[in-house]
Amino acid sequence: MRLVLLGAPGAGKGTQAEMLTKLYNIPCISTGNIFREHISKNTDLGKQAKAFMDEGKLVPDSLVIELVKSRITQEDCKNGMIFDGFPRTIPQAEALDAMLKELSIPIDYVINVDVPDEMIIDRMAGRTVCPSCGASYHKTNKIEKVAGKCDLCGKDLIQREDDKAETVKKRLDVYHAQTEPLIAYYKGQDKVLDIDGVGSVDQVRARVMKALGVN
Ligand SMILES: [Zn+2]
Repeated sequence: MRLVLLGAPGAGKGTQAEMLTKLYNIPCISTGNIFREHISKNTDLGKQAKAFMDEGKLVPDSLVIELVKSRITQEDCKNGMIFDGFPRTIPQAEALDAMLKELSIPIDYVINVDVPDEMIIDRMAGRTVCPSCGASYHKTNKIEKVAGKCDLCGKDLIQREDDKAETVKKRLDVYHAQTEPLIAYYKGQDKVLDIDGVGSVDQVRARVMKALGVN
């Protein structure tokens, strides 16, 4: 099973990707994870990607494609994969189609998780993380026991740069301009499953499973 997950940053794609990974026993190809791995290892590609991300800008196509290509040819992708956060633009989608055609492994479905902007801004702005152990919290969904302190290690919680309202708005603008045309692109291939992303994780999961015909 080869899937592409589409949806604005903060629409909850990552959570659904985790579920699909277990369901089909296939890896999730998240450019975010590939970037983070390269950044933590301080590779040349990682350094380049970080400079763009720090400014709230998208990493250029050529750089993204290079990273993805090396990832999907690894052994664990032989039964399929889920793309999360890639492709983000029409040129990336075309590059992905060309790559997969060469490997004779076309995309099966494109899952489009739809959530209104205001709801995404609200979700993201309420999020905090522990800089020490990585635990995450949310002002309405997952409240820490002592305000501003990590339940697990007691460290002061912080708001990630990526979660600040201004950064989120900037990313949503970029998303609407560059990524929404992808929905039309994949509708042209008759592969899109539209999913209402408003509601609990379980509700959205049930919608995804139903759309995929899984009971
Ligand atoms: Zn902690």
